[in-house]
Amino acid sequence: MIACFGLYDGYHESYFPVDRLVENHQARLDSFKLNRSGAFVEGVVTELRCRDRRYRCHRRTPNFFVGAVPVLVIWDQLGRPYFECGRCSRRVKHTYIPELVCRRCAGLDYASRHIHRSVPGVHRVMRWRRMIGIDPHPFAPIPKRKRHHTRFHRIVARIRAEESKLVGHLSDIVHDLERRARLRGILPK
Ligand SMILES: [Zn+2]
Repeated sequence: MIACFGLYDGYHESYFPVDRLVENHQARLDSFKLNRSGAFVEGVVTELRCRDRRYRCHRRTPNFFVGAVPVLVIWDQLGRPYFECGRCSRRVKHTYIPELVCRRCAGLDYASRHIHRSVPGVHRVMRWRRMIGIDPHPFAPIPKRKRHHTRFHRIVARIRAEESKLVGHLSDIVHDLERRARLRGILPK
């Protein structure tokens, strides 16, 4: 049996569902999905399509071979298969192409993790900005008002305080992302 897995743009609809990290176009294999498609049955050959590259995969217990590279498959008590990361030996559901290691060892992170962390502050700022009828976007200019508009100034003070926290938070994120980019060789060390 030969199955086709489209992991990138331009995959055919009848192919296996795309499974990738959108933000860095990193393709990954999902052990549950592969299992459901029958790829872990002994002797089954699966064709993996990764943009213009093709990997011929096959199952030879206890490994799943992606091309010539074996990835160990471990089954839990409920009969669910996991990959064992070849670098850190963690049991994982996803292994990343082309290194065939776990997310951590591939040096990846989800951008959404950083975005969600900053959302609470952003929402507060936007709510307060709407309360006084100004541009709701954080850091947008705040128009001047007369000194006796005490409610306005009280809320503006809150907005300024929260926005300065956001600045600190954003610079932490930038620092974090730069560090990761250096680790992955995207930026010079
Ligand atoms: Zn690992």
